[in-house]
Amino acid sequence: MKSRNDYFSNNVGVSTLPLVMYIDMNSYFASCEQQRHPELRGKPLAVITYDSPNATVIAASIEAKRMGVTTGMRMPDARLLCPTILTSTTHPAWYRRIHVDVMGILRSYCDDVIPRSIDEAVCNFHSYRLVYKDLTEVARQIKADIAAQYDYLKCSIGIAPNTFLAKLATEMQKPDGLVVVTPENIDEKLAAMKLTDLPGIASRNERRLLLTGIRTPLEMRHSSPALLRKVFGGVVGEYWHKRLNFGEVDMYNRSENRTMSATRTLSRKQSENQQELESMLIALCTRLEQRLVKSGLFCKEVSFAIRYADGTRWDTAIKLADPVQDGMELRSYIKQRTTDFERSRNIETLLTNKTTNITVAVQGFVKDTVMQYSLFDNRMKHDIVRKVVYQIKDRFDQKNIVRKGSELFSPFVMKDAVGFGSVRDMGLNKEGGVRNKHMLEEDADPHTPRTIVIRDRVQIAPPPPEEIYDDIGASDDEFSSFSGVITHMNEQKTVASEKNLEMWLKNRK
Ligand SMILES: [Mg+2]
Repeated sequence: MKSRNDYFSNNVGVSTLPLVMYIDMNSYFASCEQQRHPELRGKPLAVITYDSPNATVIAASIEAKRMGVTTGMRMPDARLLCPTILTSTTHPAWYRRIHVDVMGILRSYCDDVIPRSIDEAVCNFHSYRLVYKDLTEVARQIKADIAAQYDYLKCSIGIAPNTFLAKLATEMQKPDGLVVVTPENIDEKLAAMKLTDLPGIASRNERRLLLTGIRTPLEMRHSSPALLRKVFGGVVGEYWHKRLNFGEVDMYNRSENRTMSATRTLSRKQSENQQELESMLIALCTRLEQRLVKSGLFCKEVSFAIRYADGTRWDTAIKLADPVQDGMELRSYIKQRTTDFERSRNIETLLTNKTTNITVAVQGFVKDTVMQYSLFDNRMKHDIVRKVVYQIKDRFDQKNIVRKGSELFSPFVMKDAVGFGSVRDMGLNKEGGVRNKHMLEEDADPHTPRTIVIRDRVQIAPPPPEEIYDDIGASDDEFSSFSGVITHMNEQKTVASEKNLEMWLKNRK
């Protein structure tokens, strides 16, 4: 059998046939609970991790959504909007079980199914052009097959020439949608949408588009790649042009091949101060954390390099067991590695007074949309705290007003997690079995949760010495044009040369 790449891959050719199907389960966790507990059906329901009065809603049923309840809302607020709202704690193993079954249904129609999260998947039907006459008929069959197994579960299905438009089509009709986007109707569909209706366009990008005179998704689609390049500051703009003009840029995970790095060249004086060197490392990790949060990414690998005055260098790459976004966590992995090395060679420190340059780079990215159900993950608190910190920083336009107290440790109890690895682990293997059966097991006793430690607390702190935050103080624009290095597999293009980074640092002084 031919592989999917023989027919199709990101960025190769433009097919305008609507052969990509996107499936998005509606109000997934809440519907799963309603599936299992018929008494909850048709009622406003909030799924929460812990049964406490102030719990955070991690999923709302269709009925609760209609009353204005949203994910991330606190229960007291949800009750104000919807006094009759019911709650249920999570049952991750049940959600995974249904995920596996739904993926199995999709695979019975198409062998190229790519799960995007626990409740979303893309099916690439390019090699089935002659098999199915009408994909809307296949979509109806899929809905019927799901209903036959789980009668309360609904999904929105989008069909389009590429992944992005297919996903967009699932947003157009909820719940239980079925929308086809074609070259004939795309303009009409886009004309009814706002810029921020496009997944990936938030207020910041909206502002940039508006400044260029692009006011709607329709105008965006008919803008030149060159103009969009200007708006988005590079190749990302071209991707947007492709997305809206039937090119494929989202089907397979290209993020594996990208790198983000932050680098710092040190003055003689700086390198003589051990504490300053350590602070630089923190600053670089924090810089990367900021970039990761803003790009909505986690990383699975971090590397660290030190360059010395005599032209030699020391570097290391660390594979991370779980995707990481937190700067202090990145730093602790680096410190662990350098300390091990220092001990083994019996040297005092790798960051000697001959250090001229240090670089931290991260890669192996995972989108936080995939991590979305890390709402369950044992990093949940972490991630929320981090987001809040950045929101506050943005709001006050002052980077040092809030700092994370990453050093503070305080035990926190957390339940089983729908971890990131789960989608892959749950995938069916060639024999049709589940790769990691453990993922489908219920907690031995849901009332005795595992204990883990959550480290971050928001802490109002006095501003740290200015020079430490040199790099961090840069706005995103400055960063992307100077020290931001984003490379793509086939476009090993470094945005910044060291020279202009040095110049930039000099000018800032
Ligand atoms: Mg969904």
